Formats: sequence, C-alpha cells, structure tokens
Amino acid sequence: MSILKIARMGNPVLRAKARQLDPAEIRQPAFQKLIDDMIETMNEYRGIGLAAPQVHEQVRLVVVGLQHDDDDDDESQTKIVPLINPEVTPVGSDIVEGWEGCLSVPEVRGRVPRAAAIRVQALDRRGKRIEIALEGFPARVTQHETDHLDGILFIDRMRSLDSLTYLDEYARFWAKD
Ligand code: ZN
Repeated sequence: MSILKIARMGNPVLRAKARQLDPAEIRQPAFQKLIDDMIETMNEYRGIGLAAPQVHEQVRLVVVGLQHDDDDDDESQTKIVPLINPEVTPVGSDIVEGWEGCLSVPEVRGRVPRAAAIRVQALDRRGKRIEIALEGFPARVTQHETDHLDGILFIDRMRSLDSLTYLDEYARFWAKD
C-alpha cells in the first residue's frame, strides 16, 4: 500500500465531475489497490473521509469512516467503508449546520448546512449493491465526500463565509460548539 498525494484547492482535478465505474473495473487489482491506498492515505492524514478526485483519480469512489455509537460504554468504533458510484438521497427535510474541514482545503474549518439524515445507494468493493441509512456526523461526512465527485467543495455549501476559520482560531473561539 502507499500514501497518495492529496490535491489542494486550486487544482482543477477538484473541480471536475468524476466518471462512473463499471463492475468489471471494480474487480481489477489496480482499482482494489486504489481503495486500500485511499484508506491508508486517509488514516495517515487523520481524515474521516476521502474522495478519489482528492488523490487525482477522476472516478466515483469515496471512502468514509462510519461511527457506530453503541449504547454501551465502549468507545465508538469507526468502520471505514468504500462507496462506489454513490447516490445520496436526503431522508426528511431536516437541515443541520455543523463544522467541516477538508484535506484539500487545509488549515480551515467552516459551518456547512447538510441534510440531517440520508440514504446512500452504492456498490461495495466487490461490486455488490448496498444501501445504508445514515444520520448525524456520518451523514455529513458522506455528503461532503460525494460532493467531491461533482467538483463541489464544502466552502461552496456554506451559507456565509463568516464562520470560515483557521484551525488555531477554531481551537480558541469555536471548539466548544
Ligand atoms: Zn473534502
């Protein structure tokens, strides 16, 4: 596995629309390696999600860390799930604002409105159809990552740039939110 180079804001690859993958392509070793490399890259940079265009690949693949908040006292566990050709559908009409950052827009955070609950249809890494229901932070992460496949960055979704904040200032003034 290898750690991939992350494209930063200004690189046109982040503004292009990524193409759909077909099942035959998903089974190729090179594509399976891309999935593993993206997971390794995301962990290396302590991200909670990563989209293929962020590593210069214009295909509809994201990896997202989905937390399982169990009712017992165990720490919530993060399971990293690859989603191929993901389609996000909002469930209900609740919109919530929350903080987001992005490995391609380093050192800043901002408040972004997102659907509170979503349904995601996608293919898994074996090309099998899956459907998952998400709410809260995992729903936010998944919407952020799938936006990357259409060339959309989180700053585009902000209602106002008033909350765009450097990480130092975030820690000083906003972290208690
Ligand atoms: Zn991002």
